[in-house]
Amino acid sequence: MNEEKCKRTMDGYRWRCPVSKCRTTTSIRKGSLFEGSKIRLTQLVMMIYLWTIDVSQRQIAFEAHVSKRTMVNWTKKLRKICSVEMERRGTLIGGISQGVALEKKGGLGGKVSTIFRDNCS
Ligand SMILES: [Zn+2]
Repeated sequence: MNEEKCKRTMDGYRWRCPVSKCRTTTSIRKGSLFEGSKIRLTQLVMMIYLWTIDVSQRQIAFEAHVSKRTMVNWTKKLRKICSVEMERRGTLIGGISQGVALEKKGGLGGKVSTIFRDNCS
């Protein structure tokens, strides 16, 4: 697939098959975490960037011009992606003299308890 400009798509680009008999087109979001979202890519990139530097959800929603509910949903999605990737890589969090805060939610609508584990002890 080749990238081509397309004014009819919200992103301004799409993929097109280079085979002359085919010429199939598809969204540049296909197969990405952005597939199915109606939010502009510029907003999504801004949301993700601000989220990675620990900006509050309220502030991110304001800066990216999205609703707080949208930001909450994207935060859940981003956390899930990060946790899956960390599990896949076997990434260790924390370290010597670095405490790790863990949250555990008990059942449906259960109480969230935070456990702070200091790796020194
Ligand atoms: Zn094709």
